[in-house]
Amino acid sequence: MIKLYLFDIEGTTTDINFVHKVLFPYSKIHLPEFVQHHQHEKAITEAIKDVQATVLKEEGRSIDVGGAVEKLLQWIAEDRKHGALKEIQGHIWDLGYSKNDFKGHVYPDVGPSFMRILDAGGKIGIYSSGSVHAQKLIFGYSTAGDLTPMIDHYFDTKIGGKRDRTSYANICNTTHLAPEEIRFFSDIPEELEAAQSAGMAVTHVVRPGTKVSNFPMIADFNGLPET
Ligand SMILES: [Mg+2]
Repeated sequence: MIKLYLFDIEGTTTDINFVHKVLFPYSKIHLPEFVQHHQHEKAITEAIKDVQATVLKEEGRSIDVGGAVEKLLQWIAEDRKHGALKEIQGHIWDLGYSKNDFKGHVYPDVGPSFMRILDAGGKIGIYSSGSVHAQKLIFGYSTAGDLTPMIDHYFDTKIGGKRDRTSYANICNTTHLAPEEIRFFSDIPEELEAAQSAGMAVTHVVRPGTKVSNFPMIADFNGLPET
């Protein structure tokens, strides 16, 4: 029996365009001004140092804060998953959500399906490459209201990469559940393959634009939980 319903975000609970057409452009526009105003706060100072260390290591040159901003903007354009960029973006999005500049997109079937899963005695978890902080913002300020009271577990790449079998084994250990008690939902077949090889049940979520696969597929969560 499935006890934990584990959801990917981008392309699964949330339109993939939300990240690329709302969040990334917002962080790009606000990054220079944000760094200028917040560079002396500990978390931001550390992140800037981290950028400077990466550039020194990879390109052999020292950069100032302005150079770090330029580098961060380049990484946004390249969609580079660098810890310092994620840290700073998290703070920028924090402000954006709290000022109501945008809401976290979730498909309309997400909120009602979460409710039915909880009513049936199931639990809900999230596993996304976006930081746990960013995950809580999406669901906390979502188009369906604050969904965070319904979510029990959040995992990001600190538990391991989404295409690695061991990440899913780690999730089992952390939640004290057997792999067959967890069903993982994602739009990416390689992630489903990794979860399945760890013993989890898997479902391919095929939203508009997602390519089909040989995994069991659903178009939305209207049929959840399975009875
Ligand atoms: Mg995805």
